[in-house]
Amino acid sequence: AIEMVDVNKWYGPLQVLKGINLSVDRGEHIVLCGPSGSGKSTLIRCINHLEEIQQGAINVNGTRLGHKGANADHVRRDVGMVFQQFNLFPHLTVLENCMLAQRRVRKASVAEAREKAMRHLQRVHIAEQASKYPAQLSGGQQQRVAIARALCMDPKIMLFDEPTSALDPEMVKEVLDTMISLANDGITMICVTHEMGFARAVAHRVIFMDRGEIIESGTPEAFFGNPSHERTRAFLSQIL
Ligand code: ATP
Ligand code: MG
Repeated sequence: AIEMVDVNKWYGPLQVLKGINLSVDRGEHIVLCGPSGSGKSTLIRCINHLEEIQQGAINVNGTRLGHKGANADHVRRDVGMVFQQFNLFPHLTVLENCMLAQRRVRKASVAEAREKAMRHLQRVHIAEQASKYPAQLSGGQQQRVAIARALCMDPKIMLFDEPTSALDPEMVKEVLDTMISLANDGITMICVTHEMGFARAVAHRVIFMDRGEIIESGTPEAFFGNPSHERTRAFLSQIL
């Protein structure tokens, strides 16, 4: 479903992605980890063209992302994204947050948009908060709203960028459980996270990045049990 071929990206003189080759099959769950500044966020942001690449090719569900943003809207229709800082609209209620893009982008009727929003809010166990504003919710609840909001667009692929790292520890589990349930439904998923329990539970492959390169990629068993690169071992010894 996602194909990155020899992708290179620079910010000015700084090369942040170096020869990235990555294919993700439909239904596959990838966990992406690595040190701060290694390019994890940049990599996933390139997939829905929040960032431009200078060399290489990215295909998402058969659509090629052009260098100047050609086809970006087409690709984004299929791709949902959840960020570390939930990015909810503060002046809209939970329900309105989940209805907005359906109305604007999908041209759904109010009734359709509301019905789908409530369905996904139920799914993340937060329907009873539908009329509240984001600031009235806990971090974990806000992040579940962000997930529901993304799901309202019927994404085929979900990208998560450290979705639990801004949360208080007691709220991490409720968000991870939501993500595990999504994974079990078979959606294609790339998740930047250092939650290794999550990786063991759902990842088909764990990928380790360092300094803009993919250094290692393997099943969770192989990755945690027997990493082949020194840099991976050094990283794991810090986070485990
Ligand atoms: P973290 O774990 O801290 O989130 P990351 O692996 O997600 O790190 P990126 O955010 O992808 O790393 O950043 C990769 C490199 O690109 C870093 O050196 C960062 O400073 C640089 N960078 C990121 N965004 C920009 C930008 N908009 N302009 C210039 N440099 C940037
Ligand atoms: Mg990041």
